[in-house]
Amino acid sequence: MKHCRKHRLPFLKRHRKCMKCIREQFVLWRERNPEKAALQGIRQRAKRCGLTYALTTESLPKVPKVCPVFPWIKLKWHKHEGRQQDDSPSLDRLRNDRGYEPGNVRWISWRANSLKKNASIRELSALFRDAKKVRSLHD
Ligand SMILES: [Zn+2]
Repeated sequence: MKHCRKHRLPFLKRHRKCMKCIREQFVLWRERNPEKAALQGIRQRAKRCGLTYALTTESLPKVPKVCPVFPWIKLKWHKHEGRQQDDSPSLDRLRNDRGYEPGNVRWISWRANSLKKNASIRELSALFRDAKKVRSLHD
C-alpha cells in the first residue's frame, strides 16, 4: 500500500495522491479559476431549481470593478472557502422568468444579490418605504 508522505494517508486508486492532496488541489484550482468555480456552483443550483443553464466561461460577462447596484462595494474574489463575503461577485439573473443564459446574467455583489433575491419591485418599494418610516421615527 502506497502512502502520501505529506499527509500520511493512502493513495487513492489510480492516483498518486491521497484524499487530502486532491482536496488541496481543488482549493488551489478554485483560487486560480474563481469564475469557473462559481459557474460550477451555479450549474448545480440551476439544476436543483429547474432553471436553464447555458453559460460558458467565454459567454460570461467580466466581473466589473464595483457592484453595479451598490457602487461603493468593490468586487473581489475571496480565496478561502466557506461563506460568501458581501463583496464577493455573485451572478444575478436580469429576467427572473429566464435561466442562466448568455445575455441574462450580470455580476453584482453578494450583498446586493442576497438582499434582492427574488423580490419584486413592489416588495422592494415596500421595504424601502417601511425602512424609511421606521428610521425617521428613531433618528
Ligand atoms: Zn496527501
